[in-house]
Amino acid sequence: MEVIRVNFTLELKKTTEMTATERDQQDPLRAYRNQFHLPMQKNGEPYVYLCGNSLGLQPKTTAAFIDQELKDWATYGVEGHFHAKNPWMPYHEFLTPAMAKVVGGLPHEVVTMNTLSVNLHLMMVSFYRPTKQRFKILIESDAFPSDRYAVESQIKFHGYTVNDALLELTPREGETLIRQEDIETLLANEGEQIALIMLGGVNYYTGQVFDFKRITSLGHEYGCTVGFDLAHGAGNLQLSLHDDGVDFAVWCSYKYLNSGPGSLGGCFVHERHANDSTLPRFAGWWGHNKTTRFNMRHDFDPIPGAEGWQLSNPPILSLAAMLSSLKVFEEVGMPTLCAKSLKLTNYLEEQLLAINNDRIQIITPSDPEERGCQLSIQVKEADKSLFDAITAKGVIADWREPDVIRVAPVPLYNTFEDVYQFAQILTSCL
Ligand SMILES: *Cc1c(COP(=O)(O)O)cnc(C)c1O
Repeated sequence: MEVIRVNFTLELKKTTEMTATERDQQDPLRAYRNQFHLPMQKNGEPYVYLCGNSLGLQPKTTAAFIDQELKDWATYGVEGHFHAKNPWMPYHEFLTPAMAKVVGGLPHEVVTMNTLSVNLHLMMVSFYRPTKQRFKILIESDAFPSDRYAVESQIKFHGYTVNDALLELTPREGETLIRQEDIETLLANEGEQIALIMLGGVNYYTGQVFDFKRITSLGHEYGCTVGFDLAHGAGNLQLSLHDDGVDFAVWCSYKYLNSGPGSLGGCFVHERHANDSTLPRFAGWWGHNKTTRFNMRHDFDPIPGAEGWQLSNPPILSLAAMLSSLKVFEEVGMPTLCAKSLKLTNYLEEQLLAINNDRIQIITPSDPEERGCQLSIQVKEADKSLFDAITAKGVIADWREPDVIRVAPVPLYNTFEDVYQFAQILTSCL
């Protein structure tokens, strides 16, 4: 027994003493970095890019995927809808299997369409149906502004006031994170009046991840509909939307899903709603039964499942960029990706704690179950000049007023060396 313990301690010591370079050498995903374009500094060195939570990097294959569609457009004109190498008519379907795996949904629960805020509205049209007794929407007090605007405008659209109908989950005085028990208390008090719980799956500011399954079951116990904004979750966390029973979810593809600036959004609708013809919805021709879509009949006949919420025929060039990126996700798989992510972010945390400066505090939860790859670092008495200094030394990260630096080491293209460099640069700028 004693011998084993000694070995274990040695093993642990070895890991903690491993250099970033050694960690990179042992990384099974190390070859993937070279499949992305890294933004370059003037000195010819790549930036330490820790901003994949804002805009993911471009896969080197993306240009060829887009070029294929440009060529097919040139060659076939309108006939490309059927004769392109990847015909445009069903093009969005080529993304579905990989996207469904990324979010843990069944293929008919997932669709790629529009952009995030648009999809959030479309989902609320169907899933926020206030009544006199039940009309409130629960969001986080520091929800992403676009989500708040969307929710407030839906409340007003239905004739309620934000004052009466918007409920906010607020951290306790002096704290920055939301406690699960406070969600429970709030639901016990107000659950019967809540029509919709709409939370960011990963809070964009603190990086806190909610327990999707627990919140969904709890919400359902009180008769609420439960939706999540996964802008910072898709491609970052191991998600299981179907099994967790979530009613709907929306996300974008330009953050962790590396599909290019302003690229399309994703939408999940649980299969229990797939054939519910009582749901109100804003309809468009792309949501109509595919076999009769071009008969141009008057009666709307929705495709069962998430595809039934589509409005328009989608932009193929953006879908092509997404397809190139999703190939990588399909090849690697979320379990492998998340395994590296865990190590990389734990290493970042270790490096930050080792700086041992009371000015910095990590506000993201320390429990790996409650975070993805992003850590948010609060810096006391800092202003943006600190962030500018870090940028000047070759780091691309993200600054949020008043005093938070968000950094996201992304397992597909970031290295342990990136993390080490960042910690060195931050130390030198503090
Ligand atoms: C990035 C992000 C958005 C962006 O919405 P778009 O409609 O894609 O511009 C919305 N909500 C959250 C939580 C985000 O992180």
